[in-house]
Parts: sequence; structure tokens; C-alpha cells
Amino acid sequence: MSDVYNWQLGRDMSYPYEAKFPDRQFAFVFNINRCIACQTCTMACKSTWTFSKGQEHMWWANVETKPYGGYPQHWDVKILELLQQANPDGQKWEGEISEDIQKPYGEFGGKTIFEAAEKTLQPESARVLGYLPSDEEWNLPNIYEDNPVGKPGVRDKLNETGAELPVHSTWFFYLARICNHCSYPACLAACPRKAIYKRSEDGIVLVDQSECRGYRKCVEACPYKKVMYRGNTRISEKCIACYPRVEGTDPESNGQPMETRCMAACIGQMRMQGLVQMSQEGTWAEDRYNPLYYLVHVAKVALPLYPQLGTSPNGYYIPPRWVPTSYLKQMFGPGVERAVQRYIQPDRELLAVLQLFRRSHTIIFRYEIEEGDLIYEGTYRDRPVQIYNDTVIAFGKDGQEIFRTTVEEPIYVRDPKHQNSI
Ligand code: SF4
Ligand code: SF4
Repeated sequence: MSDVYNWQLGRDMSYPYEAKFPDRQFAFVFNINRCIACQTCTMACKSTWTFSKGQEHMWWANVETKPYGGYPQHWDVKILELLQQANPDGQKWEGEISEDIQKPYGEFGGKTIFEAAEKTLQPESARVLGYLPSDEEWNLPNIYEDNPVGKPGVRDKLNETGAELPVHSTWFFYLARICNHCSYPACLAACPRKAIYKRSEDGIVLVDQSECRGYRKCVEACPYKKVMYRGNTRISEKCIACYPRVEGTDPESNGQPMETRCMAACIGQMRMQGLVQMSQEGTWAEDRYNPLYYLVHVAKVALPLYPQLGTSPNGYYIPPRWVPTSYLKQMFGPGVERAVQRYIQPDRELLAVLQLFRRSHTIIFRYEIEEGDLIYEGTYRDRPVQIYNDTVIAFGKDGQEIFRTTVEEPIYVRDPKHQNSI
């Protein structure tokens, strides 16, 4: 085991290999507040990569309804239970949340899935705390869709105050998921054949199909359950981050890095993907006007999914604003209250950056803001609100402008003679 720095935990942790980071890392931000569970992303991935015989139960991209849904069923409850057994004193966060990008969420005091594996009764070969889901658990990708939590202790009864903000008593939300292309991948750590590797150019994690022998150690180890076993080839497969698009080698990309299929297809405009600059210590190098850097490290509205697991996932989520904080803290760590507060009362820059989602398929490397007129003044929850019609301009890898858009969405009025036509 090596000691590596995990900035999401705010401390060093044990990992089976030395730390090594790409110059740029594949990462994404999903804004849960905007997801409508249309599953267009799910089907965009399915119809591109997993439509063949033997892949019927394979959903590299999926959207599950929380708190009850999960693919495979109860994946997060199960791994959190295992982690709890390994951390009988609790999975506690210590210290304060801060603006420091090396340690923004304080310090995780419990053991990660790597550290816990050293202490628990695992087979000798196990390097990572995990479990192998049963075939039945993979069978129902969208189980419990739209099932809310009800009135505590009363069966089949919803809470009457379900629709009142700031926190709903009856709630659910949609959690869209793909492989997190983790900085410390558990799948890679567990593979006895070293068939899984992390690309040095973009940090995408891939299974070498010619090396894999289907031992399923990766399926067991990935806490997010994003490696899947294919029975007819006896080989494991996983999300490949649509790497020809990210490389800019896809014929549609015109040589510029392009977002993945699931991102590009998103109807709810809740997904943004990018390639963030990494430092050799494993933290993000400062890149102030990269939209992902801004959302994760400046506005701090986007948080990692289950950071306490220790893989340093590169998927970040803007938490849903109507869900009880205790639930969200378990899922996204101690930064939740700050993230929700900043999201519900966005400052001028955040409002502009939120307009960048899904205006183009080309990956945004930098943005600029041109100030516009004041278009609204009022109050929200007793606080003053001012909205400016700023213009936000997106630039690609080559420094060229990709598009520009405004905070106030333009309104197009259809000519009456076309009102009933498409
Ligand atoms: S999410 Fe799972 S499959 Fe993806 S890189 Fe992390 S550990 Fe590996
Ligand atoms: S396409 Fe977008 S809005 Fe629709 S389910 Fe997927 S993430 Fe949600």
C-alpha cells in the first residue's frame, strides 16, 4: 500500500499503487435540480455501446430514483453498510469546510474502502472492501422510479406537507450516474491481472479486453458498481467515456474534444463535461475560468458522490435543494449546506455559468463574461435579488469561441402560419 493524498477527504490515504495523475482529467458536473428522468442519456449510451447480445443487462449510464432506486439494486446502501461495519466508530468528518481547494470539506476520519479492506475479514486476495451483486440485483435498472419517501412509520401514506420548501417532507430525486473515472480507481486496484488502466492523456479508466479473464474482482471492488460482467464473452466491460469523442477523433467532432453521448443527449440540460487540469499532487491545478473548476472549487456548488469511499470520483453533483440535509450529507459530504445555499441564491457569475450547460457538444475549456443590464430586482427569502442580463462566452481547446449566450433566455415567437407544424 502507498500513501496518496486525497483532497476530497482532506488527508493522505492508503492505496495499493503509487499516485499518478494525467495533465487533464475527464470530469463532469450534473445538476440534479434539472434532471427530469427522461432517460435519454441512458438510451444514448445503450444504443451506442451496449446493444449487443450478452449486454442486455448492461447500463453504463443510468438514472435512478433516490432514496430507494439503484442499479444494481441497493448498491449504495450495501457498500455503506460494509463501510459502517469497518468503521464501528462512525464515518465522521472532522474540521471545518473551507475555501481551501486542498481540503474544502474538512477531513474524513473514517476508513475508506481501501483502508477498511486491510482490517476486515476479506479473502486474502481482496485489496478493496466490496461485494459482488447477485444476478437479480442487476435485473431491474429502474426499480422504484418516482417512489417518494412517505410519512415516517405509516405505510403507504405520503406526508401532507410534501410540497413546501425549503425542504420537502415527501421527496425523491433523480441520480444520473456513469463511471466516475476515479483518480484512485477501485476497479483498477482490485484487478489481479492489471487489465484495467487509467489513460495518461485524459484519466479515462478502461478495461483491456485482451487482458481481462473475467475474474470480476473489479465488479466486486467498484463501490459505484460501474464495471459489469458480460456472460457470453466472460469479460468485464465498463463506460469508456466515449473516448473517440473526447479525443476529437470522432468524425463529428471536427478535431475538437467533444462531450460524451450521454452528456450531448441530455434533455434537461443538467450535464456538463470537461477536461480539468491536474497538479502532480492530485489536486486540481488552478484554472479559474474553466467552468468545472469554477463550479467545484470557486462557487463550490458541485460535490463528489460518496467521497468517503475514497476513490476520488471525478463526477460532481449540484445537490437537489428540496431534500433533507442529513440524507444529502451522507451522499455528498459536509459541503452540502454551502452548496445548496449558493445554488438557491446564485451570485452574478454563477447565474451566468449555469447558462453554459448544453449549448454545444464541444468541450468548454474557458469562459468569459460580458456584463449586461439589470433586468430584475426583488427579494427571495427576505434577501435582495438582482439579476443582470450578462453574456457568457465559451471557448474550446483551440481558444476559438464556441458560442455565446445570455442569462435571459431569448424568446422566439413562431409565425402563426407554422403554429401547428413541426
Ligand atoms: S466508478 Fe468504479 S469503474 Fe469507474 S473508475 Fe471508479 S472504481 Fe472504476
Ligand atoms: S437526459 Fe438529462 S434530464 Fe434526461 S434523465 Fe438523463 S440526465 Fe436526466
